[in-house]
Amino acid sequence: MKLNIAAAPPTTLSVSRSCARCGTGFRAFKREYICPTCRKPRGRTYKPATNQLSFREKQIVTLIRQAKANKEIAYELCLSEGTVKEYLYRIFRKQNVSSRTELAIRSYQESLGPVAQA
Ligand SMILES: [Zn+2]
Repeated sequence: MKLNIAAAPPTTLSVSRSCARCGTGFRAFKREYICPTCRKPRGRTYKPATNQLSFREKQIVTLIRQAKANKEIAYELCLSEGTVKEYLYRIFRKQNVSSRTELAIRSYQESLGPVAQA
């Protein structure tokens, strides 16, 4: 006589499991023992590793100092205006400034060399 188990558990690919590292409950596939959060590579930030401007960014700063508009910069560097704006935003963050005027002033001061300490 064969046992016909009608109530056999459905074969699911994912199971509920708590993370081996942080204990958070998550839906795991076969051999996953760590939750997606813990699985993410560590030490990766989207912050630029350095505040040094790239070659392209320096070109843009030069044009900003010449009081060029985004459209003109885009034209000169063969970029789209949107790309120029993205670059500017990145430069602002790197230089810790909030406007193109401030950026131009900062850039000008830096070209004069380090400010003498009193
Ligand atoms: Zn975890």
